[in-house]
Amino acid sequence: MENKDNELNFDQNTPQGGDQGGQLLTRKVAVDKDGKHSFLFWLIIPVVMIWLSIGYITGFVKDKPLWSGGKNVLGETTSVVPYFQQHGSFTENLDQAFITFWFDDAWLSQYLEAYPKLKSNNFPGVIAVFVNGIETPNYMNWAQLGILQKDGWEITDHSLAHDCSMQNWNVEKISYEYRTSKFILWKNNLSADIFVTPCGVDSEIMREEAKKTFMGYRTVDPGLNDPKNVNFYNLKVKNVDDKITTSEMRSWVDEAKDSKSWLILVFHKVGEKNTEPGGDEFNTSWENFQDVVNYVKESNIKVVVPRQIMTSQKP
Ligand SMILES: [Zn+2]
Repeated sequence: MENKDNELNFDQNTPQGGDQGGQLLTRKVAVDKDGKHSFLFWLIIPVVMIWLSIGYITGFVKDKPLWSGGKNVLGETTSVVPYFQQHGSFTENLDQAFITFWFDDAWLSQYLEAYPKLKSNNFPGVIAVFVNGIETPNYMNWAQLGILQKDGWEITDHSLAHDCSMQNWNVEKISYEYRTSKFILWKNNLSADIFVTPCGVDSEIMREEAKKTFMGYRTVDPGLNDPKNVNFYNLKVKNVDDKITTSEMRSWVDEAKDSKSWLILVFHKVGEKNTEPGGDEFNTSWENFQDVVNYVKESNIKVVVPRQIMTSQKP
């Protein structure tokens, strides 16, 4: 229906109208009755050629992208600052405290609640992606993970199936899980250097196999890390569940600051409204999450992703 209206409008707006419309004129210009090109056609070709040649030489016929003139979309003139100049060196001074916000399982609430809060403070985060959960209800989708990665978040691998009996698996099964989950992440343009074990389970084989596929390995072993001497296959964390109070979280931040340690805070769901009796042990309330982020901001501790600490290690 819409197409038909357009056709009608086209006919009405064409000066020649009806059968004498633009199409016919074009045909007349290009080819005359006995199939030969008309005089008008041969006149147009040289004119177009000359116009293009002059345009090429003087530079006015050019498809210039917006940035080529150093102007942004608002028309303001800007200059391109090299990445290093803008963000400083890739290597951090390790003689200071660091904090990492690490979110396990890729829950949708981490994207909807935690991400904007961190972003408003210019803090990056880390996401542990349980691959088979992606694109299922209550979990993020691939596009959202891509946005996080582009925004400076680090992607980590949290297995294919989130099987919490993985510590009992044999080496072949573990190796398959590592390689396949990493490959699927890679196919979705996400790169993961660290493996995060499901439910924090751990075994000697899991740890040894991880060294073949990953640059780091994280369980839920509690503790702080020494930024100057990190064992990336034995990262220590502080777990945040629904029973952890804001004063406990604040005391961890203080401890990290005083001891110049690297504190990794592990969250699951953030700010989900839970109506079930007893709540959800894996949910951090919105109030508590805000409180700890604000406290970190006040404390002036550098918020990093593991890759920043990894690339700053002395050989
Ligand atoms: Zn998990």
